[in-house]
Amino acid sequence: MSKRVAVVTGGIGGLGSAICIALARDGRTVIAADLPGDADRIARFQRDVDGLDIHVMPLDVSSFDACAAFVRDVAQHFGALDIVVNNAGITRDSTLRKMAPEQWQQVLDVNLGSAFNLCRHSIDGMIERGFGRIVNISSVSGQSGNFGQANYAAAKAGLHGFTMSLARETATKGVTVNSVSPGYIETPMTRAMPDAVRERTQSQIPVGRLGQPNDIARAVAFLTADDAGYITGANLPVNGGLFM
Ligand code: NAD
Repeated sequence: MSKRVAVVTGGIGGLGSAICIALARDGRTVIAADLPGDADRIARFQRDVDGLDIHVMPLDVSSFDACAAFVRDVAQHFGALDIVVNNAGITRDSTLRKMAPEQWQQVLDVNLGSAFNLCRHSIDGMIERGFGRIVNISSVSGQSGNFGQANYAAAKAGLHGFTMSLARETATKGVTVNSVSPGYIETPMTRAMPDAVRERTQSQIPVGRLGQPNDIARAVAFLTADDAGYITGANLPVNGGLFM
């Protein structure tokens, strides 16, 4: 059997890097799809994954047409997509009273529209080949809501509905669709939190610490395994017990 081809969007970010490495160590050919532009960041990532079967490709996941071209390019260079991890995400926090329409729309486009864009262009191929694994990276905010994150929580909760619906549509076709909902994980996103907020957050986590990127990567590797075919439409919270 040829190697499975996996794409991880936001693949050079905090969680994305760990997910790429875990999937490559599981024997996948991995494409880290991320915004073009920051050459230093890309070079750092390439150093970190040196020797692994991981390739960086530029992609703006909020563009439907760019996702179509991307899926074609991947097929040409590496083979058809077997595994899609919709991980790219942004925050534009604000209370609703102050939230601009752009803050709402950008967060919906990147966190939720992206899953539609990439799945829409890769799902037919998965169904034709009788195998696919899709994992959508949601958030504990999509389960409990979060102050200042009406846009982000709406997008992340939307991913759950998307996941369950697509899981039903593909359940008999060898394709599974699941979501992973991280709690607070140590990445640049959470390192930007003020110390007081961070300490308060940590004190509310039953496990007593923030998560590590690898905690999420292991969950994604588990759900994308070839023999994980009986898990679909599920949400796997990885949050140290923060929300249960
Ligand atoms: P991060 O900022 O380190 O990584 C996000 C990546 O997405 C970046 O590399 C960024 O360049 C990329 N990206 C942004 N917009 C894009 C676009 N339009 N097209 C392609 N790529 C784009 O953040 P992270 O902490 O690694 O978060 C990864 C995912 O996990 C996100 O969906 C985030 O919402 C979710 N999440 C993170 C945490 C956490 O504690 N870090 C908690 C819950 C959920």
